[in-house]
Amino acid sequence: MTNNNMYFVANWKMFGNLRSIKSTNNVLKLTKSKKFQKLRIIYCPPYTLLDALIKKTKNSKISVGAQNCHYKSDYGAYTGFVNAKMIKNIGANYIILGHSEARIEGDDDKKINFKIKSALDAKLKVIFCVGESLKNKNSNKTSQVIKKQINVGLKKINNYKNIIVAYEPVWSIGTGILPSKIELEKNINFIRKLLNKKKNGKKVIILYGGSVNSYNIKNLTKISQIKGFIVGGASLKAKNFIDIIKKSII
Ligand code: PEP
Repeated sequence: MTNNNMYFVANWKMFGNLRSIKSTNNVLKLTKSKKFQKLRIIYCPPYTLLDALIKKTKNSKISVGAQNCHYKSDYGAYTGFVNAKMIKNIGANYIILGHSEARIEGDDDKKINFKIKSALDAKLKVIFCVGESLKNKNSNKTSQVIKKQINVGLKKINNYKNIIVAYEPVWSIGTGILPSKIELEKNINFIRKLLNKKKNGKKVIILYGGSVNSYNIKNLTKISQIKGFIVGGASLKAKNFIDIIKKSII
């Protein structure tokens, strides 16, 4: 079995400056070698670095995405925000939506649904994050929460061609704590079932995100339902990101 077509999404969160762009040099080199050519590597830097990264990765196997957008499709008087078509217009192809750190800042399921629709209209590929908080998990509400996030987030969306779902338990993000294999399989299978119920939802792939690093990646890649990873903290240093990518290939 080979898994050399996996997704690796580098979520830089609110980190990085123009000097950070250099850190993609070795990743670019890696994508040129045959073994890694089929990998889908997507850098999601802050808005301020999108243009520089898009230019740097032009004509390469690396794609670039944003970390959020405003829910309005059109231009308008929304100081401090950008919409999906502005992101597409500068050459990005992906967007992370529904991330728990954006949910904390006010993105609820309904708003995320508007954002997904506007991103799809703008022809962006959406990486839609779902996952339970520690409080949800401890009160046995994981399935209930994920079900609502998926069903409201994807309401009235019929075309899933450009949607990827990422399971990111909030309590695992940035904590170094990972769900057990059993827990991961259970929750990802649950997401799979919810997606399969939707017309055209069967082909949607599911990623995992939360404290992925070069030590735990080998075990994570053994879980066949996981088709790739969102890597936050560990993607900020090219060496760590490359280690993760290399160790993921069987
Ligand atoms: C994330 O923010 O999407 C993430 C997975 O973060 P980390 O890898 O740092 O837990």
